[in-house]
Amino acid sequence: MANFETVKVETDLLILGGGMASCGAAVEAAHWAKKNNLKVTMVDKAAVDRSGAVAMGLSAINQYVGLKEGDNTVEDYVNYVKQDLMGVARDDLVASIARHVDGSVHLFEKWGLPIWKAEGGGYVHEGRWQLMINGESYKVIVAEAAKNHLGTDNIIERVFIVGPIMEGGECKGAYGFSVRENKFYVFLAKAVFVAMGGAVHVFKPRSSGEGLGRAWYPPWNSGSSTYFTLKAGAEMTCQEVRFIPVRFKDAYGPVGAWFLLFKSRATNAFGGEYMVERRDELQNWQPYGLVKPIPANLRNWLGMLDVMEGKGPIYMRTEEALQKIADQYKDDPKAYKKKMKELESEAWEDFLDMTISQAILWAASDVQPEEKSSEIAAAEPYFIGSHSGASGAWVSGPEDLAPPEYFWGYENMCTTKGLFAAGDATGASSHKFSSGSHAEGRIAGKAAVRYLVKENPPMPTVEDSTIEALKAKTLKPLELFAEHKDFTSQTDVNPNYIIPKMFMFRLQKLMDEYAGGVGSQFTTSKMLCERGLELLGLLKEDAEFLGAEDLHELMRCWENVHRMYQAEAHVRTILFREETRWPGYYFRADFPKLDNDNWLCFVNCKMDPETEEWEMLKRDILPMS
Ligand SMILES: Cc1cc2nc3c(=O)[nH]c(=O)nc-3n(C[C@H](O)[C@H](O)[C@H](O)COP(=O)(O)OP(=O)(O)OC[C@H]3O[C@@H](n4cnc5c(N)ncnc54)[C@H](O)[C@@H]3O)c2cc1C
Repeated sequence: MANFETVKVETDLLILGGGMASCGAAVEAAHWAKKNNLKVTMVDKAAVDRSGAVAMGLSAINQYVGLKEGDNTVEDYVNYVKQDLMGVARDDLVASIARHVDGSVHLFEKWGLPIWKAEGGGYVHEGRWQLMINGESYKVIVAEAAKNHLGTDNIIERVFIVGPIMEGGECKGAYGFSVRENKFYVFLAKAVFVAMGGAVHVFKPRSSGEGLGRAWYPPWNSGSSTYFTLKAGAEMTCQEVRFIPVRFKDAYGPVGAWFLLFKSRATNAFGGEYMVERRDELQNWQPYGLVKPIPANLRNWLGMLDVMEGKGPIYMRTEEALQKIADQYKDDPKAYKKKMKELESEAWEDFLDMTISQAILWAASDVQPEEKSSEIAAAEPYFIGSHSGASGAWVSGPEDLAPPEYFWGYENMCTTKGLFAAGDATGASSHKFSSGSHAEGRIAGKAAVRYLVKENPPMPTVEDSTIEALKAKTLKPLELFAEHKDFTSQTDVNPNYIIPKMFMFRLQKLMDEYAGGVGSQFTTSKMLCERGLELLGLLKEDAEFLGAEDLHELMRCWENVHRMYQAEAHVRTILFREETRWPGYYFRADFPKLDNDNWLCFVNCKMDPETEEWEMLKRDILPMS
């Protein structure tokens, strides 16, 4: 095996990930750090310009409260989020983001992001909270601001973070490796900010075989935030709350513009509208089922009931929606033609802005949305604390909003001292999306600098033996592969190691079958979860034998280890919560009902970083102070 240089970087604040939350943290932390002569360093596995969930661009900013315009209040947003999550959300965290999010959106506009404007002025809204944007370059614009504030010398790209450096229960930084050069990285830091996104491909995807790799959630976010915070001993929350988006089938194209902007209907194959025909089912999920807007998981659930009754496929009635809008111009043939053209291009642009593969699929299968409906379907489960999921680290709220139980000194600090998180990496504060993640990053970045100034922690030192042990562990898959690759004629099958793709398939199969994936109609039970945990235990043993041919495969190995820990946190939490609270996301067949008396609470968990023993905890849902 080739020699790997060890590169040591010392910094005051280490920002892990280069996505929306990290770019927000970078802008704010750099500002305060400059005043206090502190060094801030950002590390991303990819190139910040096009990394994370916004890499391809977006067609809408999903969180804009409109405080200045008097459109909504912070409380309106808190109520909306709490309702959508079936009562389980941290009011203090949601409010903290909501009161700052408009500021992030105004910054985006100042930095050059084109936000649609209405004829009379003001932003064009897709829905109550969403703004339409020409967002192909959204991430490039946000990244440029982060670079300008931080300075490119302080940004290290294409370095994959494996985990935290822990000594004596303290997080002293992070370790990882370059995905381009033979370099092992050690980052020593006085404070660490984690925002390495959520997780995809933990469950078997709908797109398999020739379609493998296509998913709603970006394939490069693989549970690194969860692994990092768990291994740093931080308490986690809402690990049972996966997100299942209903999207255009097979290319996962967004449906938001269709439902909200074009006011399209979704119907079953017989033309029945499940949202109307199955309205009575919502009574079973009171009080959440009876409030508007109906929670995302319940909307999914009504469609799933149709599918389970054999009424699928489910269709988005695109042709009907476009026709209805154009019909307003039917008495003026010229205006009608112009409107139709405009709608057609908006429909395609919606995909070209953020899910190009959906436009390719439409083109390849001769779909013209003004003529023909398109299938929509529930995707496989994802872990995303910033969207309609809620899984992530349990963090401190702000002093003025958090009840004492939710406050431990600094906004967005995990229960591990000096460790901060935001975006998909934090839980119980759903619906922050791209703008809210950026705002939350700014909140956390500022708090982290305040922590550095107030606590003045010393620069950590780490034993050489600790670094050598981490290096050996990180690079072991390369060593195993090099040692045994000639044992078989094909390197992907070998009794001495398992390649990351095969390992991932094994993880996905067990999650699909035991933890309620697509193949199990999102249904699980105590017995299934327990068997799933048994199989996860065996998988964990085999993780020691992952083999990597090169640096890229080494990254794939560690991505899958990260996924495996995300999977375990999920199964353990689903098992612990003995009710069904989010049908449409998952269904506990043995506890098929909502149980507000016993389970209107957060389920949190912790893993001992050394022994890897888990502790499950119930935490009260408390109002803002
Ligand atoms: C398909 C999809 C559609 C969406 N649509 C919208 C929308 O229309 N409007 C909207 O406002 N929001 C939308 N969102 C939400 C928005 O994209 C997220 O809320 C936001 O990107 C979360 O920010 P983040 O920083 O937590 O994660 P990300 O922006 O995903 O950033 C994660 C970062 O971590 C890095 N990383 C991951 N693992 C490692 C590792 N091991 N080592 C080093 N770096 C690592 C990645 O490279 C990346 O830079 C959408 C999300 C998805 C997935």
